[in-house]
Amino acid sequence: MNAPLNILLIDDDEVDRLAISRAMQATHTHIVEADTADSGLAQALSQAFDVILLDYRLPDRDGIDVLRTLRASEQHHPAIVMLSRQEDESLADQAIANGAQDFLLKDEVSSRRLLRALRQARQRYSLEAELRESHEALRRLAERDTLTGLANRYSFERTLHGAIARATRQQQSLAVLLLDLDNFKKVNDSLGHDQGDQLLIAVAERLSQAVRDSDILARLGGDEFVVLAQDLQHNEQVSHLAARIFKAFDAPLLLAGNNYKVSASIGIAVLGVCANSAADLMKCADIAMYRAKQHGRQQCHFYTEQLHSKVQHRARLEDDLLHALARQQFQVHYQAQVAAGDYRLLGVEALLRWQRPGYGLLGPDDFLEVATHLGLLPEIGAWVLQEACGQLAQWRTHTHKAELRLAIAINLAAEQLHDPRLLKAIAQALHSNVLPAHCLELEITENTLLNHASETQQLLEKLADHGIRLALDDFGTGYSSFQHLKHFPIHTLKIDKSFVADLDHGEPGERLLAAMIQFAKTLGLNVVVEGVENSRHAQFCQRHGCDILQGFLFAKPLPATEFANVFLSR
Ligand code: C2E
Ligand code: CA
Ligand code: CA
Repeated sequence: MNAPLNILLIDDDEVDRLAISRAMQATHTHIVEADTADSGLAQALSQAFDVILLDYRLPDRDGIDVLRTLRASEQHHPAIVMLSRQEDESLADQAIANGAQDFLLKDEVSSRRLLRALRQARQRYSLEAELRESHEALRRLAERDTLTGLANRYSFERTLHGAIARATRQQQSLAVLLLDLDNFKKVNDSLGHDQGDQLLIAVAERLSQAVRDSDILARLGGDEFVVLAQDLQHNEQVSHLAARIFKAFDAPLLLAGNNYKVSASIGIAVLGVCANSAADLMKCADIAMYRAKQHGRQQCHFYTEQLHSKVQHRARLEDDLLHALARQQFQVHYQAQVAAGDYRLLGVEALLRWQRPGYGLLGPDDFLEVATHLGLLPEIGAWVLQEACGQLAQWRTHTHKAELRLAIAINLAAEQLHDPRLLKAIAQALHSNVLPAHCLELEITENTLLNHASETQQLLEKLADHGIRLALDDFGTGYSSFQHLKHFPIHTLKIDKSFVADLDHGEPGERLLAAMIQFAKTLGLNVVVEGVENSRHAQFCQRHGCDILQGFLFAKPLPATEFANVFLSR
């Protein structure tokens, strides 16, 4: 048996009310009556009804108006059937569009028909409600991060757009604080993903407690969270917020029975400081966050004008570098390597230069790191190989001097050693320029040898088998592992210029350089000392048995023609 239908009848016409009550008499219903719109609304909003029968024509307001008010109310959700005296299609449509479930003509009202209409209306309404609820759930799903329950990236960005528009209109400021956990990957890897998830949930809770009610907190994904701080009077407010967030992580989190100390890095971008759109704010906060990470754990960093100009400078540098090779802006300069005994020319080191438009001639220190970051080193390195070998071949055919045995030293970057095309590039540079392999000496630094040692070892052995010579560059500045000298087919040790510079600072420096030269000689290695700037340096090295000298005393790195003028012409 169905429960009795609880009905509210709103109709000013007493006769009609009576007719309806009569029609419903024998049915299982309970009817409450109201004779004005306002009294009906008061009833409807104060208690729950299953169905409201609503007359369209009421003395104080029309039925559509009452309908809208009822549907706007959050409290009760009754089905609503609109009653009218006249047949009126457009009125019926309007009633349905405003949330009524049915529209009945008063003349048609009979007991059976009315009851059926009421039950159907109620059913229809509950189906609609279900649909609304699942819509709502979908929306929540789309806007919420399922793990932490915080807003997700999508809804955060939508909120940010609105907040920026409002702040701009009202000439107020806001800030975005981007937060990234330090070493989260380690937790995930060592404790497993479930624990990683637990950590993120706990972090979300701590963050929720640290922010103010007016701040908006979201998880962007992974271990990245974001806070939108609004109504800012001054930047210190943001610093305080960052400090509160850091403080929230003071106490360790409990994870799988263990205490776990969490730290995070925060990047902050303030509206108006180099960023006026949501996208720019997020980008700037991201850059500031990476800056913070560079400064170590648990740091926060503001995106400032200064940082902005650095970032722009870097972006222009990257852009220019990407095109430099195709635009033929690279050059190779050559620095002489001479015999320590009689300063006879034995070889040249090829050193890369970049003629950057608007900036003049740049040395590798100004761009090599960025080029490495962009992954350009294999390409640039291959070009240097070809260019330098081509130059050496030309000198060999056009000079009559005894320096036909001239060798060329070329620097190899770590990225080149891991590039499968290297062997081919070297072979081609030698072959196309008809150069014997022993003219070529490849310079690598110790740090290059640290990673992938076994693959590198095979590669270097192959090169040595072909007769190519290998030099260990900047010796003494890296790990200086003697293992390297045992495992890799090294011919030459280039002692770093800092050791020569130390000769100017007294006896300990002298003893160290002398011992290094002697050590290399004992191992049967060819020794080059670089950074030789005066004759005292040169004499010291020569006295202690060094083979080759390189430095400003003999020549700076020079463009090919100048080098030839100084060393080769006659
Ligand atoms: P490096 O291989 O140690 O090259 C020697 C550096 O010392 C050169 O700097 C040279 O100009 C400088 N130098 C030479 N004699 C003296 C001297 O008497 N006193 C002083 N103070 N310095 C001297 P440069 O040309 O600026 O090159 C810097 C570094 O860039 C090189 O250091 C090398 O590691 C790298 N590099 C240069 N060209 C290439 C290249 O084609 N490929 C790769 N991968 N690296 C390169
Ligand atoms: Ca070098
Ligand atoms: Ca060096």
